[in-house]
Amino acid sequence: MNYKNALDHSIFKIISKSAQELQIDAYVIGGFVRDFLLKRGNPKDIDIVAVGSGIELARQVAQNLPNKPKVQVFKTYGTAMLRFEDIEIEFVGARKESYNENSRNPIVENGTLEDDQNRRDFTINALALSLNKSSYGDLLDPFQGELDLEHKIIRTPLDPDITYSDDPLRMMRAVRFATQLGFTIDSKSLDSISKNNHRIEIITKERIVVELHKILESPKPSIGFLLLEQTGLLNQILPELTALKGIDEIEGQRHKDNFYHTLEVVDNISKNTDNVWLRWAALLHDIGKAPTKRFHKKIGWTFHAHEFEGSKMVYRLFKRLKMPLNDKMKFVQKMVFMSSRPIALADDIATDSAVRRLVFDAGDNVEELMILCEADITTKNIKKYKKYHENFKNVRDKIVEVEERDQVRNFQPPVSGEEIMETFGLKPSREIGTIKESIKEAILEGDIPNEYEAAFQLMLEEGRRLGLTRVTTDK
Ligand code: ATP
Repeated sequence: MNYKNALDHSIFKIISKSAQELQIDAYVIGGFVRDFLLKRGNPKDIDIVAVGSGIELARQVAQNLPNKPKVQVFKTYGTAMLRFEDIEIEFVGARKESYNENSRNPIVENGTLEDDQNRRDFTINALALSLNKSSYGDLLDPFQGELDLEHKIIRTPLDPDITYSDDPLRMMRAVRFATQLGFTIDSKSLDSISKNNHRIEIITKERIVVELHKILESPKPSIGFLLLEQTGLLNQILPELTALKGIDEIEGQRHKDNFYHTLEVVDNISKNTDNVWLRWAALLHDIGKAPTKRFHKKIGWTFHAHEFEGSKMVYRLFKRLKMPLNDKMKFVQKMVFMSSRPIALADDIATDSAVRRLVFDAGDNVEELMILCEADITTKNIKKYKKYHENFKNVRDKIVEVEERDQVRNFQPPVSGEEIMETFGLKPSREIGTIKESIKEAILEGDIPNEYEAAFQLMLEEGRRLGLTRVTTDK
């Protein structure tokens, strides 16, 4: 097959000319070719294999480009990178790899294009297009990757036991590509991943998280988490999730399987947000249920304070996976901690004060919290499903109303601590906190409006109640 039309962009002509000048062969390989054949949008990365020095080819290409871009050389890996327009082009010399037991870093020798294709992870990633003059655009496909693309199959070029054991990151990549592309992992590969799953321990947490992010960013993340579970990888990476699996029954009372419920929530939320941290929150929103699960004769199964427990677990999980312990983590914690709040409101007709409290506590994240809670409705009872969604709509309308009227989002009580101190001639003390809290409560309850004059009058009243004397008279 010839796919000259894939190589219309001027950059390919320049690489071809540069390779010719150096008298070496060059090919486009990997993701670019795969995504072209899948008609998957505009690529931002192009991988070039040179049968010779990739670094020299990169330098030659840079010379031939009008803006003479800088070449970034990674000597240890024998690769080089340059940017042209908004495309990143990576150059590597064709190579042959062999591995040892304890590392995913191979011993590398120069090789042929075929050697290089052998070291690729999947048949669909080993496809190459020729950039050589006599065969420009010819597809080099020694493992029938084009057919695998058509059949939507993830398969390794070599014996999967070797491929996965050599570099266990490929197990995560197999799951990730299956999720991103909606492909099936070949059954031999699946068996091999299950057999080699313990090898994931030699992979750095950072790399695992990159793949988890890509799985979560896919249109239907559950595909990936089910595969990770099925192959035994999930238990090693996120045991908090596998702990949610299963249904217990005591005295005829059952609870739902919180693992499958969680995956449904993640798929639901993925239809409504691209915010990967909100998707993380959906994935982790119920993790506190495993350690808090109890059975009580009278009331059945409970998961008391699982949201609080879950939010503490988020920190430990992020730390273990070397994820950032910054505002993103705090956001996920907050979402997990508050994940049942709107649901409690949707059970009934929400009162103004309950909505006001929700807006106050959620602050700027009230919209994300609502998206999470709507995704959490997975009941198969059509009547209940409709009722919850209608009630949520009602809560949303009330949020707008309350916000317009009371402006409680990020609200600061209208009377400051300093003013309380001045009015009663106080030094910093407990009474100030008590008065401020009463004012906040009264506003959130709707007993007084969120306005200065009403708050000032309440401050005076509270002061009297506490036996304080007013020392100012100007108001
Ligand atoms: P995407 O950009 O969507 O992640 P990609 O296929 O371009 O897809 P890269 O990680 O950029 O992914 O890798 C480029 C190419 O390098 C792949 O197509 C594959 O041929 C090869 N490759 C990457 N990682 C591995 C690996 N761990 N083992 C073997 N080959 C790999």
